[in-house]
Amino acid sequence: MRYSAPRGTQDVLPRDIEKWRRVEHHVRRVCELYGYEEIRTPIFEQTELFVRGIGEVTDIVEKEMYTFPDKRGRSMTLRPEGTAPVARAFIEHNMFSEPQPVKLYYIGPMFRYERPQAGRQRQFSQFGIEAFGSGDAVLDAEIIDLAYTLYRDLGLNNCIARVNTIGCPACRPRYNEHIRNVLSSDLEQLCPNCRSRYDRNPMRILDCKTESCRTIAAKVGPIWGFLCTECAEHFSSLQDSLRAMSVPFELDPTIVRGFDYYTRTVFEFMASGIGAQDAIGGGGRYDGLIESCGGPPTPGVGFAAGIDRLLLAIEASGAAQESQRTLGCFVAAVGEGARLGAARLVASLRRLGVSADMDYMDRSLRAQMRHADRYRARIVAILGEDELRAGTLQVKDMNDGKQWEVSLEGAADEIRAFLQSAREQ
Ligand SMILES: [Zn+2]
Ligand SMILES: [Zn+2]
Repeated sequence: MRYSAPRGTQDVLPRDIEKWRRVEHHVRRVCELYGYEEIRTPIFEQTELFVRGIGEVTDIVEKEMYTFPDKRGRSMTLRPEGTAPVARAFIEHNMFSEPQPVKLYYIGPMFRYERPQAGRQRQFSQFGIEAFGSGDAVLDAEIIDLAYTLYRDLGLNNCIARVNTIGCPACRPRYNEHIRNVLSSDLEQLCPNCRSRYDRNPMRILDCKTESCRTIAAKVGPIWGFLCTECAEHFSSLQDSLRAMSVPFELDPTIVRGFDYYTRTVFEFMASGIGAQDAIGGGGRYDGLIESCGGPPTPGVGFAAGIDRLLLAIEASGAAQESQRTLGCFVAAVGEGARLGAARLVASLRRLGVSADMDYMDRSLRAQMRHADRYRARIVAILGEDELRAGTLQVKDMNDGKQWEVSLEGAADEIRAFLQSAREQ
C-alpha cells in the first residue's frame, strides 16, 4: 500500500518553503505596518456559523463545505473562509467594547470541496484582514491600499484594484428589480446557474464567467444610478480617498462578489497569467455580518487572498526568487577520533548562533567537500587526526578557496567572527 496526499491537498516541500515564508513574512509585515493585529481562530466551527455568516444561497454553503458530525452528533465544518470565524470571535470576546475600529488579520489553512485546479486546492492557505466598528469609506480605501502595497512588495507591479459598490438593503432591491426587467426576455439563454440566480440573487448573474451570460449581462448597466444618497456618498468618498492615497483603481460594475454579506464597497485585484479569471484577492464592506452572526449592529470591511494563487501570480510575473539553502560552516572530519572533535565544534557553533553541520554517512574527505558544496556552506572546517593532536584545524573559505589554520580552542569564535565580517562586507 502506497499512500498519497488526498486529492486537492499538497505537501509543501523544503525546496519550496522559502517562497511560502516570504509571502507570509510580507503579509505580517504589511498588516502590522497598517495597524492590524493577528488573530488565530480554530480550524473548525459549528456549521451554523457559516450558514448564517456566509449565506445559505452561496456556492460555498450549498456545495463546498467539509461538514461532519462530531462524536455527539453536532454538525461541525472545516472553515471554508476566515471572515465568519473572526466575526464570531469579535462577538464572543466583546471586542465591540474596545476602542474602534478593531483591526485584525489572520493567516492559515481553509477548506473547500471544489474541483482542484492550478492555485485552487481543497486545502488552501489564505490570509485576510478585517476592520470592525467603522463605516468610514476612508477605512475601505485603507484596506485596498494595504492590499496594493502588499502586492507591490511581492513584486506584482501590474496589479490593479477593480472597485464597485453593491448598495445596501435599502437601495439594492430596486437594482435587482431592474436586472430582472432587463433580462426577463433572455432568461432561456442564461446558464442553469444564472437561471436559478434570477429569482434568488439576480446581481450574481453579473459576475457569471460563462461567455453567453456575460454578453447578456452587459445590457444591465451599473448599479450607480440606483444607489440611495448614503450609498452614493460612500462610493464617491471611497474614490476620493483612493485618489488621495495614490492607489490606482478602475471602476468595474461587474464586480459583485460571491458572499451574501457584502454591502456597499466591493473590490478585486487582478493579475495576468494565472487563469481562472486571474483574481488574486478581493473583499468589501459587510455592515450586516456581525448582526447576522448574533452580535450588535457593527459595520465592517475586509479583504482576503489565497496564498497559493499569490504564489502562482508571483511565478507568472517573473518576480519569484530562487531559494537557496545555505550553511555557515560544514565541519569535515577524517578519522574516528576527529568525528568527536567535529561534533564538539558543530555544537559550539550552533550555540553561538552559527548554522553548522557535519557528515553522518561515513563519507570520504572528498565526498564531504562535495557535500559541503551542495549545501552551499560558506566555510568548511577540516579536522583530521594530525590536526587533532596538534590542537588545530584547517578552515577553508568556499567563496575564494583561501585556506588557513586556526587553533581548535578558539575555532568556534573565530569562525563566527569571520562569517560576521563576511556578511558585513
Ligand atoms: Zn443604499
Ligand atoms: Zn451564467
